[in-house]
Amino acid sequence: MSAALGLVCRTCNRIIPESDFRMVCDTCRTPLEVGYDMEKLKQALQKRTPVDSGASLLESWRGILPIDRPELIERVYIGETQTPLVKSAALGRTAKVGALYFKLEMGPTLSLKDRGTSLCALKALELGFDTLCVASSGNNAASVSAYAAKAGLRAVVFIQKDTSASKIFKMLAYGTRVVRIDGDMSTASRLCGEMLRRHRWMQAGGPNPYRLAAKRTAAYEIVHQLGGRAPDAVFVPCGGSAGMVSAYRGFCEMAEMGMIPSVPRMIGVQLSACEPITRAFEAGRDRVEPVEKRPSFSDALMNNTPYWGDQALEAVRRSGGVMVSVSDQEVADTIRLLGATEGLFVEPAGAVSAAGLRKLAASGSLASMDTAVCMLTGHGLNAPRAAFGSEPLPPIIPPEVAAVESYLAG
Ligand SMILES: [Zn+2]
Repeated sequence: MSAALGLVCRTCNRIIPESDFRMVCDTCRTPLEVGYDMEKLKQALQKRTPVDSGASLLESWRGILPIDRPELIERVYIGETQTPLVKSAALGRTAKVGALYFKLEMGPTLSLKDRGTSLCALKALELGFDTLCVASSGNNAASVSAYAAKAGLRAVVFIQKDTSASKIFKMLAYGTRVVRIDGDMSTASRLCGEMLRRHRWMQAGGPNPYRLAAKRTAAYEIVHQLGGRAPDAVFVPCGGSAGMVSAYRGFCEMAEMGMIPSVPRMIGVQLSACEPITRAFEAGRDRVEPVEKRPSFSDALMNNTPYWGDQALEAVRRSGGVMVSVSDQEVADTIRLLGATEGLFVEPAGAVSAAGLRKLAASGSLASMDTAVCMLTGHGLNAPRAAFGSEPLPPIIPPEVAAVESYLAG
C-alpha cells in the first residue's frame, strides 16, 4: 500500500477514495490533491532514498507516490529519470547569488510535463481508463501522446490553433489523433471538458491530482541533490501553476517531517502578456481573476484562468516569496544569455524563471541568498526560432581558408 490516504479537498477537508477518481470537489469546486499519511511518508523516505539517478522517476520516488501497482511502472517508462541540477557559470555571479543552480526539467519529450504525465498514465492503467485526454498549448499534449503510446492507451489531445509546428510534429510522431481547435487555449479546454462529460476518459492535464503528486518530487530531488539542504529561493515559471504549487507542497512536507528547517521563498514568474497571478499578488487579492491577454512570442504559459492560481498565490505569500512578470524581450535576451554563457538552450516558457531572477537582481530587490534554484522547464527545440525573430541565418562562406579567417575576424 502507498502512503496516500485518498484525494483530499483542502477547502472542506473531505477525503475521497482514489477509486472514485475525480479532479475537483463536488461541493467546493476546489481541485483535489492526493493526501498522505505523513508517518508513512517519513518511513518510506527513511527506507529508500533514491541513490541511482539513472533509475526511472517513478521507481526512484515510489515510496512517496500514490502507486498501488509498482509492476506497472515499466509499462509507462520512456526514460524519465531524476533531472539534472546544474550550477550556473555566469548568471549566479551577476545576480550576486552565492550558488545558483538550474533544475533542467526537460524529460524525454523535452519539457517538464513528463514528470507528471508518467504518473497520470500509470494511474490510468491502475484505475482502468483506456483514454488519456488533455487540452494543451503543446508541451503537455506531446507528453501525454508519448506516454499513452507506451502504455497502450489512446490519447486525444486538444490544442489551440496557433500551437507551433515543432510541437505538433512531436504529437504526430507519437501517433496521436490531434484535435486542433479553431480558438485559443480556453476554447480548447472548454471542448475537452465537454468531451469528458460524454466519455469515460482520464484528463491528464489541468487539475489532475496525480500530476501534482508526481511533480512535487522535483522539490525532493532538489533537496536530495543539494546534499539534504533546501535552497533559500526557488524561481518557478507560472502558467497553470501546478509546478509552483507542487514544489511548494513538496518543500512543506519536508519541513513538516523535519528534513529541512524551513520552506524556501517561492518566486513565481509570469509573462507580462498574461499575468493574472502577478496582478492578484500586487493588488493584495486572494483570488486570481482573468486579465486581458496581449500577444506573446510564447505559446505556453498564456493561461488566463490558471487551475492552481489561488493556491500558487498562497504558496508565494506564505513562503515569503514574490510574483514578478517579464516581457517577451527580457525572455528572448535571457534565452540567448543562457545559451551563450551557460550552454543551455531553453524555450521561452522555460526561461521566464531566469528572466525573472535577472529582473529582480537588476532592480536591487533580490534579498541576498546563498543558494537559489531556477527551474528551466522546456528545451529550446520546442520553439527554436523564438529568441531570433526574423534574424537571418549566418552568411554562406566560400570554402577557402582565407575567407574563413576573414569571417572569424569580423
Ligand atoms: Zn470540498
